[in-house]
Amino acid sequence: MNPWQNAQQILKQVGEKANIDPKLIDILLTHDRKIEVELPLTLDNGETKTFKAYRMQHNNWRGPYKGGLRYHSQVSEDEVKALSMWMTIKNAVIDVPFGGGKGGISVDPKTLSKPELERLTRTFTRELAEFIGPDKDVPAPDVNTTGEIMGWIADEYGDNAVVTGKTLENGGSQGRTEATGYGGVYALLGVLESMKLEPVGMTAAIQGFGNVGTYAAELMIKSGIKVIALSDSRNTIYSANGFADIMALVEAKARTGSLANAVKDLGIECEIKPADDIFKVKADILAPAALEMVIASNNAGSIDAKIILELANGPLTPEADRIFADRNVVVIPDVLANSGGVAVSYYEWYQNRHNEKWTKEQALSKLEGQMKSSVADVLAISVESKLTLREAAYVLAVQRLAEAKPIKYIDCECKDCKNSQNCSC
Ligand code: NAD
Repeated sequence: MNPWQNAQQILKQVGEKANIDPKLIDILLTHDRKIEVELPLTLDNGETKTFKAYRMQHNNWRGPYKGGLRYHSQVSEDEVKALSMWMTIKNAVIDVPFGGGKGGISVDPKTLSKPELERLTRTFTRELAEFIGPDKDVPAPDVNTTGEIMGWIADEYGDNAVVTGKTLENGGSQGRTEATGYGGVYALLGVLESMKLEPVGMTAAIQGFGNVGTYAAELMIKSGIKVIALSDSRNTIYSANGFADIMALVEAKARTGSLANAVKDLGIECEIKPADDIFKVKADILAPAALEMVIASNNAGSIDAKIILELANGPLTPEADRIFADRNVVVIPDVLANSGGVAVSYYEWYQNRHNEKWTKEQALSKLEGQMKSSVADVLAISVESKLTLREAAYVLAVQRLAEAKPIKYIDCECKDCKNSQNCSC
């Protein structure tokens, strides 16, 4: 099963279980627009290479399409299809006035020099120019894309508000770097409170030591949770005593190239294991914060955790989800757990358009309130309708989308309606 089949299955299952109008589900299973281009790049050595790139615009009933751009060799049409649909759901769950979009280039950016990466990004921006804009579609960073890359896009396009996740000097928002990881922990703390569990003394294992994983680890530690295992694409590091200074590890990883080298460099005593051993660690909380579909029927059964905090997009297959539901493992779903990033992206877009500059405290305290409010909305539906948190989050999102549905869809039987400007219905 690929991510798009996974995404469709989740939406269909939730639609059936929660008795949602099948016509609405059918619309949400289609995308408004698919942009697929071949990007030529002249390498520094004069050779030319082409890279496949996509932008998928899923739904804009609640506002401009919004979602990241990913640079990774696994980027495919089906991956961005799934991710753009999840953005529509996520933006509705966190209640920001955006729709869903996603894109990416099928490239391993580590194989390119910085000037090559900039040229490739600027070419992609020119290809996308007629389809993006502050009121049309607002890209953002995702896996392997950074504030600097967003700056190149804004510069090439000629308007800062066309992207979010920019560096502070370029009009980015305070708090955006921390937003997804911190937001996930705010959601976790809200769920723990509802379960009458104290975070202090709990243990956590986090897969992925990038932007999201590191800030989640940092706030978990500040909240009294012991982070006993961390992983990157090469290794898992494990310490029963817990890791203390995450930002020192981030700095050492940047300098030495890997988590394993970083702990050696810092003289931290811990076990160094293969990357996938992160799933063998017994911890109260497991937070996948790397790529999608990493927990499936082959490994879900042996995972020993009380709570799964889905910081990555789509890290569980539907089978894994079912296995956890049967075992009463609480899954805090991606569309809620990692929505902090897009919430602060909205703050950035808002500040750019209103010429405001918020402090980090303002942005993060607004984020905490917004995350906790969405958690409360999801928990209320979950309790009332006896649904898992994922099902409840989807129900909340679909309710909000239905409220924003354009008049032309109401009672319309026309199959072409969704994309037709001239529909007579
Ligand atoms: P990132 O590029 O900063 O970090 C990704 C990390 O995952 C890296 O440390 C990499 O080494 C690690 N990784 C890759 N393959 C791995 C593997 N097989 N095993 C263990 N680790 C592996 O990316 P990020 O921004 O932290 O995003 C992580 C996830 O969170 C993605 O699924 C992304 O879509 C999602 N997400 C990110 C944001 C955001 O604001 N950055 C927002 C919402 C969702």
